[in-house]
Amino acid sequence: MVFGEFEREMTAQRTAVNAYERSKRGLANGGLVPLGYRRDKEKKRYLIVYEKEALIVKEIFNTYVKEKSIKKTMDIIKEKYEGINSRLKRITRSRIYSILTNKAYIGIREIYKKDRDRTEEVKAVWDGIVDEKIFMEVGELLKLNRLRFHAANTKCFNYVLSGLIRCEKCGEKLQGKSAYSSVKKKHYYYSHKNTCKNGGINRIDAGTV
Ligand SMILES: [Zn+2]
Repeated sequence: MVFGEFEREMTAQRTAVNAYERSKRGLANGGLVPLGYRRDKEKKRYLIVYEKEALIVKEIFNTYVKEKSIKKTMDIIKEKYEGINSRLKRITRSRIYSILTNKAYIGIREIYKKDRDRTEEVKAVWDGIVDEKIFMEVGELLKLNRLRFHAANTKCFNYVLSGLIRCEKCGEKLQGKSAYSSVKKKHYYYSHKNTCKNGGINRIDAGTV
């Protein structure tokens, strides 16, 4: 490694460490500021609530609690606010979803949000916009909807017994799985990870369980 490279490497590492240390202190990163906030011009990496947009954020949460549907929430918010400013140019389902799940709105700074193994949460230096109870309620509703969506996609099939059925020959907990047969029909069954090492039945047809 030539010296210039080494120096660049060191600088990159230092930058990453600094960014991490700032986030641990609850400071905002240099990226996009969430809807409802603006950067504090006096204090670097602090956010201040921008009341006009904060009202819209609250309305998004309240609408979702009422409608219990991302699509309906999007339609309502889009109709009222799309295009009113540069931050609301396009209101999509994923935009609504990311707002509803953004803990910045309850004053939490998420670190490594996209990396589940490393993710951390600290108290943010900014104020929340959404009532914590409403945020939690929305989280529960979203979870329910995900389960419902999943059930609909698997033709209402739930592997309710996953991990509860044990093979009596080897004691392994059997997991729900599915596969297409030669006639392209989907089959559901509970099965060992591989084959049973003690000669037990490898698959139990879920339809008959
Ligand atoms: Zn077994």
